[in-house]
Amino acid sequence: MSRFWSPVVHDLTPYVPGEQPKLAKLVKLNTNENPYPPSPRALEAIRAELGEDADRLKLYPDPTGSQLKAAVARHFDVPAEWVFVGNSSDEVLAHTFQGLLKHEAPLLFPDITYSFYPVYCGLYGIDFEAIPLDAQFAIRVDDYIARGAGQVGAVIFPNPNAPTGRLLPLADIARLAEALPDAPIVIDEAYVDFGGLDVIPTAVALIRRHPNILVTQTLSKSRSLAGLRVGFAIGQPELIEALTRVKDSFNSYPLDRLALVGASAAMDDEAWFDTTRRQVIASRNALSASLAGLGFDVLPSAANFVFARHPRRDAAALAAALRDRSIIVRHFKAERIDQFLRITVGTDAQCALLIDALREILA
Ligand SMILES: *Cc1c(COP(=O)(O)O)cnc(C)c1O
Repeated sequence: MSRFWSPVVHDLTPYVPGEQPKLAKLVKLNTNENPYPPSPRALEAIRAELGEDADRLKLYPDPTGSQLKAAVARHFDVPAEWVFVGNSSDEVLAHTFQGLLKHEAPLLFPDITYSFYPVYCGLYGIDFEAIPLDAQFAIRVDDYIARGAGQVGAVIFPNPNAPTGRLLPLADIARLAEALPDAPIVIDEAYVDFGGLDVIPTAVALIRRHPNILVTQTLSKSRSLAGLRVGFAIGQPELIEALTRVKDSFNSYPLDRLALVGASAAMDDEAWFDTTRRQVIASRNALSASLAGLGFDVLPSAANFVFARHPRRDAAALAAALRDRSIIVRHFKAERIDQFLRITVGTDAQCALLIDALREILA
């Protein structure tokens, strides 16, 4: 508390990110980073940007990020005018909360979800209501629809949801968007690339028919670029314009030159993307089976993490015992989920270390 603070600062409850310990030799399974390196073409593009013209960094980057928008548009086969890019999907989400989700009626999101959402509501003064997941931790769109069209300002949830990993079928999202045609429906697809092998279940497929759907994605997870901070949104131009107006009232150059070239090359490297995401999916399925073999209840995951609880062991104690063995997983002290661990899918070798450690702890 300080008399120098603006009043809003006194009331903020900031988001707490998973820790990034400085220790070497950790098995770090706590913040859903990708265990594989980014596309070599992305790294090459960044080196070239630095090397070609030694003092290129003295110039501002392209304020519109047009090269990256074009790469995103190519990947999804949508017009570039449907794409917004930003410095991480957290920033894209922040602009979305401010530009699209503050209305007379409350914003709705699940009771168990990405814990940044209530933080943005506090920052921007947005009225919200948390809608409980069902007993199996699934989103029930009928609970949102039942509120009635005039009573819902907007809806946001991740798909797959975080930290449960559960995927909502696209048909349910279409039904929700249809039932609440005046409410922006934001689908935060941070993990969707791990949601299917041959078909990725992205709601981008619904945008042409549903002008109220906005999809956000990040290069932090499926493209192994959490350190570069790049995210984007896709929607019809009416929604994109709101984000652009907010962005140009906040920071004209959110993406630096290295991020723009690296992210564009990563979006274009379809082969690298597909190989690494398939590897993560295979490891996730194996990890889920191994955890079940140790007696854990594991929620069905469509993400690069699993959410699991042991019927007879306290989750916080398990997390502490893993930590003693230099393995870090995430434990949330929130209601309904405080007996779960969220475990990021690592390499098969990292997953094997985790399973061996758990076997020892449970013995
Ligand atoms: C990781 C994550 C993000 C943030 O991604 P960044 O682009 O790294 O900011 C957004 N939403 C959810 C649900 C996430 O898990």
